[in-house]
Formats: sequence, structure tokens, C-alpha cells
Amino acid sequence: AEDMNSPFFQKYSLDLSSAGFLGDGSFSICRKCTNRRTGEQFAVKIVSKRVDCRGEIAILNQCQGHANIVQLHDTLQDELHTYLVLDLLEGGELLDKIRSQAKFTEAEASRIMRSLVTAVDFLHSNGIIHRDLKPENVLFESDAEEANIKVIDFGFARRKPDTAAFGQQSASKALKTPCFTLDYAAPEVISTVEDNSGYNEMCDLWSLGVILYTMLSGYVPFQVAGPDKASRIMDRIKGGLFSFKGAVWNIVSDSAKALIKGLLTVDPKQRLTLDDVKRSHWLFPEYVPQTPLM
Ligand code: ADP
Ligand code: MG
Repeated sequence: AEDMNSPFFQKYSLDLSSAGFLGDGSFSICRKCTNRRTGEQFAVKIVSKRVDCRGEIAILNQCQGHANIVQLHDTLQDELHTYLVLDLLEGGELLDKIRSQAKFTEAEASRIMRSLVTAVDFLHSNGIIHRDLKPENVLFESDAEEANIKVIDFGFARRKPDTAAFGQQSASKALKTPCFTLDYAAPEVISTVEDNSGYNEMCDLWSLGVILYTMLSGYVPFQVAGPDKASRIMDRIKGGLFSFKGAVWNIVSDSAKALIKGLLTVDPKQRLTLDDVKRSHWLFPEYVPQTPLM
């Protein structure tokens, strides 16, 4: 029911039909809504007041203006909920595309990676680590063939820690919160639960590697079946134990595999950096190295 005392419902009408449902998470639901005055359509992420989403809002406000990052248009609240009014992205999750299409051609995967890399570059240069990059959090703007993608869900995003402190004994500033999605989580994020060592923005590069592997094969790199699944997946991730075995990989280029290998490098100090990735010819074929003037 629309509560007309709520500032959200005064300004927007919520699409309660089944077509209006966009998705949900643990503490939120996402639906289509319409600005009553302008008729403009948006997505609204409705978050329970039990969840503190001030951090998510602050970070979203800091990363406005990039074509591959969801834009926050409005924030409202009432007694029960916080409403984040966002770009309406109607093309569905990258995860669904991977599932329905089984896998992508290298050209398609490279186009999507290019957008992801520019988005992550923008975030990192603005001091933000996403920390939850995965195909559920990458949405297509429309159903069109070459639809633009946008990164969503800044619920786990954080400000970058002081880089000087990372890896040192007094690494108090390095991030230590163990919240992640297992399949896409970097080894240092998993280890930090055990040894409190901390991690930095390199965890996003690991996740990009997992996303690329998944797009090109249709399955995640660190997968096991049977009992003790979670702890065995963690062991695989910490050991960097994945393979390019299986028929799907036979036709994948060496440069794509090299990029995956470089991103899925267990030691974050040895892992490909964003600058390395931007120099990858597979990703940016148009890139021409700048020749130094002297
Ligand atoms: P959570 O923090 O609970 O995971 P998300 O921000 O990831 O919430 O949103 C949950 C789901 O809602 C997403 O996976 C996606 O399917 C859908 N969704 C989120 N934002 C949008 C949007 N701007 N446009 C369309 N669908 C969205
Ligand atoms: Mg999410």
C-alpha cells in the first residue's frame, strides 16, 4: 500500500506488478518506480531501516558521472525504509546472460571487461574499492545487442585504506572486514579472516579475473562438489588452484588466458594491476603505447 505520508510515495509511484520487480538481496528489494511529476522511470532499491546504508549512499554520491557505474538520483526515507532512486537498468544481470548464453565469445567478453575495467579504474582513482564485483552486480542497460553495462551494489564498498599501511605490521588502516561472496573473493580477503592481515584495492582485480574466467567458460574457476564445500573452495582460492582444462578452453586465445592468469595471481603484489590490464592488447586493441619524448 502506498503511504502518502512517506516522502518517497509523495514523489514517486511504485510499480507493484510482477514486471516491476527488478531483483532482491538479503536486506533489500529493487522495483521500478516513476517520478509522479516528470513521468521519468527509475529503479528504487528499498532497504530496511535495520540496515545502515549511509556508507553506500556516501560512496554512490562520490562516484557519479561514469557511464559504467549506476547513478544515484535521489535518496528518501520514511519510518521503515531508505529508498535509493537509481538508473533503471532493464537488461538484467550479467549472471543471467552467462547462464542463458552458457558462454561469451572473446569479442563480447572483452567488450564487457573493457567497461568493467574503466569503471574500476574510475572507482580506484576516486579512492573507492567495490569489494563485491560479481556477475550479479553487473547489469545491462537494455536488451539491445551491445547494451552498455553498469556496476551496481555499493553495499560492501569502502574507501581505500592508506596504501602505505597495507602489508605492514601496523596495518591498522588496511581493510579487515571479512565480507565477500566466496566464488569471487580474493585469497587475501579470505585469509584476512584467519590472520587479520588486511587487504587493499587489488581484491577488485582478482574479482575481475573471476568474472572474465566465468564469461569465457560458463562456470566459476574455483568450484568443488560434495561436503565441506565452502572450506574446500577457500583452499582452492588460497592456493590459486584453477585450470584451463575442458573443451571450452581449447578455443580460447592465449592472451585471454594470460590475462586471467595474471588477475588470478594469489599474491596481490604479483597480481596484474589496473595499469597492466589497461596495457593488455586483448582488452584494448586500439591502445597505442606512448613513446617517451626523450
Ligand atoms: P543487495 O545489496 O541487497 O545485493 P543490489 O543493489 O545488488 O542489492 O540489488 C539487488 C538486485 O536488484 C540486483 O542484483 C539486480 O538484479 C536488481 N537491481 C539493483 N539495482 C538495479 C537497477 N538500478 N536497475 C535494475 N535492477 C537493479
Ligand atoms: Mg547485490
